[in-house]
Amino acid sequence: KPEAGPPDSPWLNVSQYACQRRTTLNNRNKILTDALEVLAENYEFIESIGPCLGFRRAASMLKSLPAPVRSINDIEGLPCLGPETMAVIQDIFECGSSSKVEEVLTDERYQTLKIFTSVFGVGPKTAEKWYRRGLRSLEQIVSDSSIHLNKMQIAGFKHYEDISKPVSKAEAEAVRRIIEEIAGCFSPDVTITVTGGFRRGKEFGHDVDFLLTVPGPGKEDGLLPAVIDHLRSQGILLYSDFQESTFDLTRLPCRRFEAMDHFQKCFLIVKLKKEQVVGQQAEQRCGRDWKAVRVDLVAPPVERYAFALLGWSGSTQFERDLRRFARLERNMLLDNHALFDKTTNTFLQAKTEEDIFIHLGLDYIEPWQRNA
Ligand code: ATP
Ligand code: MN
Ligand code: MN
Repeated sequence: KPEAGPPDSPWLNVSQYACQRRTTLNNRNKILTDALEVLAENYEFIESIGPCLGFRRAASMLKSLPAPVRSINDIEGLPCLGPETMAVIQDIFECGSSSKVEEVLTDERYQTLKIFTSVFGVGPKTAEKWYRRGLRSLEQIVSDSSIHLNKMQIAGFKHYEDISKPVSKAEAEAVRRIIEEIAGCFSPDVTITVTGGFRRGKEFGHDVDFLLTVPGPGKEDGLLPAVIDHLRSQGILLYSDFQESTFDLTRLPCRRFEAMDHFQKCFLIVKLKKEQVVGQQAEQRCGRDWKAVRVDLVAPPVERYAFALLGWSGSTQFERDLRRFARLERNMLLDNHALFDKTTNTFLQAKTEEDIFIHLGLDYIEPWQRNA
């Protein structure tokens, strides 16, 4: 049940759920949402999950509004805006900025954790540990011999410069061609679908996400190890973390969103040659002729394709709200593998994303409208 705004609100019936809103990349309230996301991130760093989600939810709701918010009156009665959020927005309208946000941005701890967590493989827990040891820069981390880095973090530091640069659409397309050709050797029936931010229409991403499937039960077994072997033999595999499938047809969908799914998947860093990227052939730069790019591959069984596609297309906030909506409004459990109706104790089948929206009694939201 979407909550209605007051009669004078220009935005009636904005839902508290991102999966009942259409959120394109055209964010008219970037000043407000950037501010709220700084606070959310700061709470994430101190592992204060409640306040973190509160600010993320508020930012996500504001991203869906079809026009800029001009005053505090505009947003009266809209969902997801708690007193803390309202205070921040009021500050921005009255003073041009929020003192609370400014304080966080100049906070040494926030600044340091922001740098540390920008390394592939470094989460808030590790970043916090390094901060408490008095470390303040990436140079200090790599030169401190008493720090033990895992395999993922070693790769993260080694390729830091490249993988902290955004990946362009043209680069993503070049990666798609490479993976497509290699996967085609495994089976001519492999289909490869772009998911994640690029499927939502983003021009740039922090990585490239693909879903690979082969028609026929169990036909995807061994697909990703074969792809990884090929990348390695071509000399373009810089890092790989392969995770075997632990998928079980009978398991109920998981309630916790943060949990990984059980499909066969891998997190990679690959070497992308400049000449493979359309528009970069002419470039004759000195030094390296390649760039390290982060690539995620997931290979679900074909009968779970729709759930995996919906789950990997994001945005994270959209996914959270799909699950929350299913649970609280429909008494159903949704995750990347399945949709389970707790009222009838049955799994609901789906061939397409549209089928899942229909089961949930939701209007279909196109991928480019899921930038919540
Ligand atoms: P960006 O453009 O910055 O990459 P993105 O939306 O593509 O943004 P990703 O971190 O690549 O962000 O994640 C894409 C989607 O895949 C998200 O919706 C996320 O929920 C899902 N996802 C990512 N990692 C996993 C995982 N290990 N298990 C299950 N789902 C995941
Ligand atoms: Mn991505
Ligand atoms: Mn990803």
